[in-house]
Amino acid sequence: MAEFDVDLFVIGAGSGGTRAARIAAGHGARVMIAEEDRIGGTCVIRGCVPKKLFVYASRFADEFEDAAGFGWRVGKPEFDWPTLRDAVAKEVTRLSGLYRKGLDGAGVAIREERAVVTGPHEVKLQKSGQTIRARHILVATGGYPAFDPPIPGGELGISSNEVFHLPSLPKRMLVIGGGYIALEFASVFARLGVAVTLLHRGDNVLRGFDEDLRTRLRDALGHAGITLRLGCTVDRIELLPDGTRRAHCAHGAPIDADVVLVATGRRPNTAGLGLEAAGVKLGPAGQVLVDAASLSNVPSIAAVGDVTDRVNLTPVAIREGHAFADSTFGGKPWTMDHSLVASAVFTTPELGTVGLTEQQALATGRELRIFETGFRPMKATISGRDERIYMKLIVDAQTDKVIGVHILGHDAGEIIQSVAIAVTMGATKADFDRTIALHPSAAEELVTMRTPRKSAL
Ligand code: NDP
Repeated sequence: MAEFDVDLFVIGAGSGGTRAARIAAGHGARVMIAEEDRIGGTCVIRGCVPKKLFVYASRFADEFEDAAGFGWRVGKPEFDWPTLRDAVAKEVTRLSGLYRKGLDGAGVAIREERAVVTGPHEVKLQKSGQTIRARHILVATGGYPAFDPPIPGGELGISSNEVFHLPSLPKRMLVIGGGYIALEFASVFARLGVAVTLLHRGDNVLRGFDEDLRTRLRDALGHAGITLRLGCTVDRIELLPDGTRRAHCAHGAPIDADVVLVATGRRPNTAGLGLEAAGVKLGPAGQVLVDAASLSNVPSIAAVGDVTDRVNLTPVAIREGHAFADSTFGGKPWTMDHSLVASAVFTTPELGTVGLTEQQALATGRELRIFETGFRPMKATISGRDERIYMKLIVDAQTDKVIGVHILGHDAGEIIQSVAIAVTMGATKADFDRTIALHPSAAEELVTMRTPRKSAL
């Protein structure tokens, strides 16, 4: 009998796990993957993909309004929630099917049930009771929405998992949190016509992002009709006889809403997974502690993606999974560089960022040159929309290297992806300057900024 049933057992068929499984199988490994929910994981099933489709839906509100300024006469637009909800659900099912097809095509055995680690080389499938001996185990179980600490009535709120399936569009929504998920959904639902209140414990949104963008985004969200309650926490939520959720705040009036969306962060999904019993060290948030090669302290057990709580973004999980599979089964060891990861927040206006913020750059002791510009996009001049774009370059004064780029405005995510190539290559401000502008575009401003301001703490 062979010592191991499989070379690799992957727990979790999300972005990171699926990539690792497919690449490992491509290197000739015998791979099995277990998924207790739907194949595709957070990003495909209840995250990035359905969220972005909601974002597209929400932005038609602006488009209808803009069109009038350009001479179009359209009837009064009406929005039908079930049409959007069901179309998005259908697309998610299609994508989940493609993920399954990809795994099948690569020769990966799929087990649609929960798997628990029972030893450094052993996994037990919970439904079938089957025990699998694996040369390597990869934990790619992602995260789950957390509401910590729990408050009385917290169960009256929903998380981003449920928000895609609301039976009807609420009239009033309370969103708790000031991070990616809270802001994106506040922005989406406000544009779909919902009266949104955003309540956040901090005095500004998106902690950790560049201050100039945070402030401008906060103001833009207020301008878009979102009621901001900052510096405030919810003590308890109460259910009124008519179904209203009443959130009582530490100070100020209570807030009534039909739906309370709690978006106060996510936690690594390791509870009950058997990792500690197998000797795997977990961090304080329950994350699997791994080295640069994504290996835990137990050499046969690795982990990638949100369950490791490094940079919790889909493309990062994919890259980590790919590196693990190449290194372990392909004889080509390499590690993922987490230092320069572009990201976007799909609010309206959108935020795109890569590299250091001004505050982070200053903390390194560098002398900086900061270039910034704010302008009204060309389209808004005719449509009459009160819309602005803000761009900022952080330049190391000594090396002339562009070490941070931050954009708030239309297509910021699309623009930042291209700029991230230049920043990853180590482009200098002189490189930006000798790049010919593409006119007329918003992105041309990135290569035409000439007058720096100094920056100091
Ligand atoms: P974030 O960590 O981004 O934000 C959590 C928010 O909740 C913060 O504003 C935080 O406040 C607040 N918070 C945390 N604990 C409490 C508490 N006990 N009471 C009140 N407020 C609290 O998490 P999200 O859930 O928004 O997103 C999870 C991760 O998913 C993100 O970090 C990101 O990596 C990823 N993501 C990426 C997206 C993208 O790329 N566009 C979209 C969505 C998610 P404070 O700042 O004070 O800590």
